[in-house]
Amino acid sequence: MNRKINVTIYNENLHETTVEEVRAIYPNGIHGALKGFLEKDSAIGTIRCATLADHQQVLTQEALDDTDVLVWWGHMCHHKVEDAVVDIVVKRVLNGMGFIVLHSGHASKPFGRLMGTETHLLRWREAGEKARLWNIATNHPITQGLEQTFMVPHDETYGEPFGIPEPDQLIFITWFQGGEVFRSGATWQRGEGKIFYLQNGHETFPVYHQKEIQLVIANAVKWACPVQRACTPNRGPGNVAPLEQYTLEEGSFTPITK
Ligand code: ZN
Repeated sequence: MNRKINVTIYNENLHETTVEEVRAIYPNGIHGALKGFLEKDSAIGTIRCATLADHQQVLTQEALDDTDVLVWWGHMCHHKVEDAVVDIVVKRVLNGMGFIVLHSGHASKPFGRLMGTETHLLRWREAGEKARLWNIATNHPITQGLEQTFMVPHDETYGEPFGIPEPDQLIFITWFQGGEVFRSGATWQRGEGKIFYLQNGHETFPVYHQKEIQLVIANAVKWACPVQRACTPNRGPGNVAPLEQYTLEEGSFTPITK
């Protein structure tokens, strides 16, 4: 691809600004940590960051029209994200914008809208358990550079059943120390847009500082980038005249040749 990939990151930025333990791990916010490793990638161009506080000003139609891939982290205040912004995000994904949903973003408005199921449904436990990810798509762009399995030393436990629609492709399955298993990496296509969900990244653990997780997210941004940023969806104009002329006589079609 000739152009650089423009990325926009939405991070709620509430835990980092209100809980000292989280601020110590992410002094520049989770969005700052994500931006920090993505901007080192030569394939990536402009990176915009939005938080709950300024998302209405930053996540405009114009900014999202100029975005190839949107990365989303939210937890406490999904309901405070403006519906007008969610409408723009969902339409942009249907028109081709890539969408990477991280951790508790499974319960965000745009992911729920795009999945059409109760994506907030899952088992969870904040116990700092070890998570072992299994790469079950070794030939997929998102897993390039990874081993067949790797560990996140401490993360929030998520467990099945998870209320997602059947993924187009399952990328990771995670085993947690407490016995749960989880479909922790999965892809879908909606309209022209590619979507990737990654489970890892609870705010009280330094998960986004881990090199394997950074690689997964950078790979996912490249995978989800549309060929055309401003894509015209192939939806057709509605009720139209036939392209070929014909007459109907006694149950058979007789083409009219002009
Ligand atoms: Zn969490």
